[in-house]
Amino acid sequence: MEARRVGIFGGSFDPVHNAHVALARLALAHLALDRVVWIPAGQPWQKARRLAPAEHRLAMVRAAVADEPRFEVDDCEIRRAGPSYTLDTVKELRERWPGVQEWFLILGQDQYAALSTWHGWRELLQCVTLAVAGREGCEPAQPEALRSVPHRLHTLPLPPLPVSSTLVRQRRAAGLDIVALVPPAVASYIDCHRLYLTE
Ligand code: ATP
Repeated sequence: MEARRVGIFGGSFDPVHNAHVALARLALAHLALDRVVWIPAGQPWQKARRLAPAEHRLAMVRAAVADEPRFEVDDCEIRRAGPSYTLDTVKELRERWPGVQEWFLILGQDQYAALSTWHGWRELLQCVTLAVAGREGCEPAQPEALRSVPHRLHTLPLPPLPVSSTLVRQRRAAGLDIVALVPPAVASYIDCHRLYLTE
């Protein structure tokens, strides 16, 4: 792999939606990344809710990113047994691609705010540069726990996008249209596999 500047974009992607795609595209452009690696989580250890089967979430991410050659999808967290820790993923990717000069961790403000609850977060901050987008109009704000811990941070000027996977699932379960919230290929996939018909 020739890439020097690589973004890591993890999430449960249950399902992937338009704000995910907008955020990853913005990171590519804003940070001049060579590549963004999308990593659907296996068992998100902080989410109590049962997720849609990993093979569906993975297939939907693949469908959503198919038209951007700098997007790559990696199933390492799905294949790995046990909880999905981002630190393990970063270490695995660094071993696989030792030529990368800078790793960026792309995330929304909600995840940035919760970062100090992540497994091995201090070590993680030494391994990556954070690329944080505000969510639904709120500017990224530095969480209290991170104030005294030096870390590299870029903010991504993402316009407010009132989309979440929760909203997609809720609308679908209520029999409402989701075509404005997800890429067309993802809407077809959800229809075809009759996903999210109940909450
Ligand atoms: P859920 O509603 O199920 O909690 P979600 O929409 O937050 O899901 P995730 O897969 O958990 O989606 O998110 C993956 C990453 O994308 C996280 O870093 C999250 O902050 C970010 N993200 C998701 N939606 C947005 C949005 N509308 N604006 C900015 N960042 C977002």
